[in-house]
Amino acid sequence: MQTPGALSPLPTLVYLDRLARARAEMTRLGIDVLLLSLGLDLPYLTGYHAMPLERLTMLVVPRDREATLVIPRLEAPRVSEQPGVFSLRPWGETENPVEIVSALAGRPRIAAIGDQTWARFLVDLLPLMPSTTFRRAVDVVGAMRMVKDAAEVEALRAAGSAVDRIAADLQAGRIPLVGRTEAQVSADLGARIIAEGHQVVNFAIVAAGENAASPHHTPGARVIRGGEVVLCDFGGTMNGYCSDITRCVSLGTPPAEVLAAYDVLQAAQEASVRAAAVGTACEDVDRAARRIIAEAGFGEYFVHRTGHGIGMDAHEDPYIVEGNRSPLVAGHAFSIEPGIYVPGRWGMRLEDIVVASHSGPDPLNRVDHSLVVLDV
Ligand code: ZN
Ligand code: ZN
Ligand code: ZN
Repeated sequence: MQTPGALSPLPTLVYLDRLARARAEMTRLGIDVLLLSLGLDLPYLTGYHAMPLERLTMLVVPRDREATLVIPRLEAPRVSEQPGVFSLRPWGETENPVEIVSALAGRPRIAAIGDQTWARFLVDLLPLMPSTTFRRAVDVVGAMRMVKDAAEVEALRAAGSAVDRIAADLQAGRIPLVGRTEAQVSADLGARIIAEGHQVVNFAIVAAGENAASPHHTPGARVIRGGEVVLCDFGGTMNGYCSDITRCVSLGTPPAEVLAAYDVLQAAQEASVRAAAVGTACEDVDRAARRIIAEAGFGEYFVHRTGHGIGMDAHEDPYIVEGNRSPLVAGHAFSIEPGIYVPGRWGMRLEDIVVASHSGPDPLNRVDHSLVVLDV
């Protein structure tokens, strides 16, 4: 997912340090060249965010030579130069940028290429580099990007506070629901995401009643009525870093069955947040939520992992999922978002962003976690 936000370039020293660490990782893994195009590894290492164009932009990082940003000539004015980080190689409309990349890469034994590179460019690159084995750039940059530095945590915290204020408005009844369509409320949330300081709206899921049983429901023409639970899951990108929060409200007193399920959900979410300590395996954080939901008899209705990493991308490593035995490290940022979805009837999810830190799990969303009941 492309979530650029307005990324003001950081001091050159930050990029020099990140590139040095990427090169150390390349040395450790025997990777000779790193090739980055679309996606967020490129702005993470250089401050430059490539547009998703049919023209190739690619950063070529040889392990022991200077990096070069191969870029369409007409895009070059958008680059803020970072002396010592990379040099520019603008290409004109009649040149073949894939040949330029191949020449700059030399004859690498192993190359790592960014996940979000258009397939067409890799397909064209393969015959030009017949003796090269390709790996994914996540092997080089993924672990680095997972561990947020203090400035990144503060950027996530600011974005988190912004969506908390919107959720507080939702819970106070300041966002009209009854009689509006899901799509209208979604547009309203989107406008508030921007008004609260994000540059980009990434999503604003609004799911009423039985629609909330579909975790990624597309808000549509369904009119919201009294007596139902409405699930809102929304977030954007602020200054390059993402927010993501889910809260549910009930329009009038919900049925006892729904209230009881919500108590289970809230207990599961709390237990999972508490479990998210440095050193705990990601899968144990998932299990902390899943055990409580399963013991209450809703196991079959919790159909997704407990969470995803978040940073420059709305979904990135680490994933809070069974099978991920990697331990949490201080600076890992991720969602804790268990849900219960009963098809055709109702659904609920409760989501916060949490940062693992040496002083314990640090939740970035602090707005009321209960199922707030609004008068209708
Ligand atoms: Zn989701
Ligand atoms: Zn979400
Ligand atoms: Zn999420």
